[in-house]
Amino acid sequence: MSIDPREYRSTIGLFATGVTVITASDGDHIRGMTANSLTSVSLDPLLLLVCVDRKARMAPVISAASHFAVNILRADQEAIARHFAGRPQPDIEVALEELAGAPVLSASLATLVCSRERILDGGDHLIVLGRVIALRRAAEGDPLLYFAGAYRQLAEMSTTLA
Ligand SMILES: Cc1cc2nc3c(=O)[nH]c(=O)nc-3n(C[C@H](O)[C@H](O)[C@H](O)COP(=O)(O)OP(=O)(O)OC[C@H]3O[C@@H](n4cnc5c(N)ncnc54)[C@H](O)[C@@H]3O)c2cc1C
Repeated sequence: MSIDPREYRSTIGLFATGVTVITASDGDHIRGMTANSLTSVSLDPLLLLVCVDRKARMAPVISAASHFAVNILRADQEAIARHFAGRPQPDIEVALEELAGAPVLSASLATLVCSRERILDGGDHLIVLGRVIALRRAAEGDPLLYFAGAYRQLAEMSTTLA
């Protein structure tokens, strides 16, 4: 059965996710990229993965970097998500700092710094496996969500589960 890629995107887009910005440096420049392909992989060792389009400018940077970071965005950071998804926002200020060898966003809901463990083949994407070496999280705050092609906010469930 041949599946239309647009149908696939519309269907897999019903899997609601948080939104992250992946950050890494090539030594001279820091790059950021919005990503929602984050998956926690293993507790021992602590491994996570993100998938990066082979055509993305981030691909060669994260492939060469010894460390990268996953910055989980807060509900009020939609403009940051749009900016790092290739839609530059005119009045945005992006504050970056260093944490455990990787560039990170100064503000986020949580940040996980990884040493790059391995890059695996994922078709037109790279599967980037990272070993978590440092983390920090905000004391409070809600996550930014992505569902059915749009940014969303958390809401109370209206459905009663028997
Ligand atoms: C919700 C969502 C989830 C996504 N998930 C994924 C995913 O999991 N994997 C994937 O491959 N793609 C994903 N994408 C698509 C991806 O975010 C875009 O295709 C993105 O534009 C690719 O970035 P790039 O590396 O090619 O660089 P560009 O498009 O050139 O850069 C991205 C943006 O970041 C800005 N930027 C980069 N570095 C800095 C810096 N140091 N300071 C300030 N601004 C900077 C650039 O100005 C540009 O606006 C997702 C998009 C969305 C909206």
